[in-house]
Amino acid sequence: MYNYTKQFINGEWVESTGNETIDVINPATEEKIGTISSGTEEDLDKAVQAAKEAFPSYSQTLREERVQLLENIAKEYEKRKDKFINIITEELGSSVQFSEEIQYTMGLNHFKETAKILRDFPFSEEREDSYIQKDAIGVAGLITPWNFPTNQISTKLASALASGSTVVFKPASKTPFASILLTEVMDAAGVPKGVVNLVNGTGSTVGNGISSHPDIDFVSFTGSGKVGTKTMENAAQDIKKVSLELGGKSPIVVLDDADVDKAAHAALSNIASNTGQVCSAGTRTFIPRSMHDQFVDAVRRLVDEYPVGDPKDKNTFMGPQVSEDQWKTVQEYIQKGIDDGAELIVGGKGKPEGLDTGYYSRITMFTNVDHDSAIAQEEIFGPVMTVFTYDTLDEAIELANTTVYGLAGYVVGEDPDTLAKVAKSLRAGRITINGAAADFSAPFGGFKQSGIGREWGDYGIEEFLEAKTILGMPK
Ligand code: NAP
Ligand code: MG
Repeated sequence: MYNYTKQFINGEWVESTGNETIDVINPATEEKIGTISSGTEEDLDKAVQAAKEAFPSYSQTLREERVQLLENIAKEYEKRKDKFINIITEELGSSVQFSEEIQYTMGLNHFKETAKILRDFPFSEEREDSYIQKDAIGVAGLITPWNFPTNQISTKLASALASGSTVVFKPASKTPFASILLTEVMDAAGVPKGVVNLVNGTGSTVGNGISSHPDIDFVSFTGSGKVGTKTMENAAQDIKKVSLELGGKSPIVVLDDADVDKAAHAALSNIASNTGQVCSAGTRTFIPRSMHDQFVDAVRRLVDEYPVGDPKDKNTFMGPQVSEDQWKTVQEYIQKGIDDGAELIVGGKGKPEGLDTGYYSRITMFTNVDHDSAIAQEEIFGPVMTVFTYDTLDEAIELANTTVYGLAGYVVGEDPDTLAKVAKSLRAGRITINGAAADFSAPFGGFKQSGIGREWGDYGIEEFLEAKTILGMPK
């Protein structure tokens, strides 16, 4: 049992000023695995005060000191590898292979990459008539969702610490333990007191409190569009800067020279990874009409290569949904797909055979989907794919761009010119050609309703800075 009812404020683990707690459930067993405190406004105030007091000195630290700090964090993070993998697997239900290869590794890479970039990040620029200096933004409030318990908070923390800003952060209450472990990492790495403060609690009290707090200068939020809107509304009251990393409904465009099995794997792995709970997941596959039937056959044949089950089992590809609510949402969308006349290729409603305990879904694909229907337009956040056929590439690109989102896109095929043409035409923040590996130095973020701003690498640091122009600077 993980009982962590303390908050981390001003360099110390302290009791919450309230008595309420929140239970954390393992979605594979449906059992309680621990509790956190349900933080109060007073807890948040104390944390913001600590961050505000730490800012004048931390913002003046030397670049070299901050590079060293990020490197120490990466080392301390690595020392806790097994703990991170176990905690993420238990609280989120992501398969142990995904927890290790993706969850653990992404969190680590942000610290390593940011340390590298910080070494020669341009904090000032001399122009002919002016001198431009970039100052740390101040106190940042960080709010993160449950689907990547270390990745999202690590990119924000790495950028904030690189910039010289101080932070108060609130992880999702469904997956708080990885953040608590990360806070231990911060402490062990020598983050000065007050620079990083953790307040656990609900979105309505602590999350809302962050976006409306007068002493917070910048809110970096990752989560749903609905809460993103609320964050902007709150932040608008005192003109706080916001950055938003929101949802998606990303396309996979399969070219007519693509290998059909590769295309089927792209579609299957996009929805099955992290049980479809990935903001940048490709969830709409566009396939040339002539390849449709072969594609459907390949999906039916290959789906068994993505075993669903106990996330602690090394052979499992896909664990349960994070919660019962999320499982129900997925079920409702599958029903909507059926009601709207889409045709099931694999999967469907209910739990996979033999998995009665745990919030397990089935890997589900629909074809002959109306592109205006709910399953084609709305983010499901579960292992559900919609497949569309196209006659011309222009038609595919136009349809691929027809959603309110623009977070990611995928292209599968062979001809280099066509791959590049499609990648450049998609209106989204990150396009992946033929499963290329992630680049932690490159920006991540969304067009349209997928968000505002960019994270990762130098673009991530930039979000935590204010540009100042000095005219008449003595040379
Ligand atoms: P969510 O409900 O918006 O929650 C995100 C965070 O906001 C949680 O920490 C939550 O706290 C908090 N929160 C809830 N209500 C709040 C309020 N009124 N004010 C301030 N904070 C509040 O999202 P989710 O269901 O956890 O995550 C799924 C969503 O995140 C999906 O839409 C997904 O696409 C998106 N996402 C985007 C990215 C990206 O980089 N673009 C990455 C991952 C996920 P509690 O946990 O305590 O409720
Ligand atoms: Mg945008």
